[in-house]
Amino acid sequence: MTGEELQKATTYLRENVIRKRQIIDELIPLTSEVVRVSRIHKRTKSKKLIRYQLVVISGNQEVGVFGIGVGKNIEYRLAVKEGINKSKKNLKLITKGCGSRDCFCTTKKHSIPARKTHKVGSTVVELIPGPLKLGLRASPAGKKLLGLGGIEDLMVVSRGNKNNKFNMHKSIYEDI
Ligand SMILES: [Zn+2]
Repeated sequence: MTGEELQKATTYLRENVIRKRQIIDELIPLTSEVVRVSRIHKRTKSKKLIRYQLVVISGNQEVGVFGIGVGKNIEYRLAVKEGINKSKKNLKLITKGCGSRDCFCTTKKHSIPARKTHKVGSTVVELIPGPLKLGLRASPAGKKLLGLGGIEDLMVVSRGNKNNKFNMHKSIYEDI
């Protein structure tokens, strides 16, 4: 993306809480990925049904933006589509910074400005800014989400129910 395109994308995200998907598609090239698949079995009188429930993340490292969406459908393809669309609607602009006391960088753009704690359900997630070159210290799922948003050095510490990966994602998403 050129500087002008970046500026345009950032301004649009900042100024519009309710956004149009078409404009987002035009302004920001997004990468999307399915990060969690659950199959929900439903038994009715006549047949067994499988419904897919997916968690999809979308983002752009250059802009520093990510979103998370859940798609549900009997067809996998349609569940993916719904998840992608929802994650695009929920795009969140990340405020980057460097809140690490051990870091002497000048760019201040590789992490987040300060430590943050968030709770979703029984999962508590803490985000701790790390010094340059620390990398992402998080679960594979957390790494993916943070990496997609262009954050490079951050430590994620979680307490409580770690099995609920969706809550983990949601906490990180809402925390940032
Ligand atoms: Zn730094």
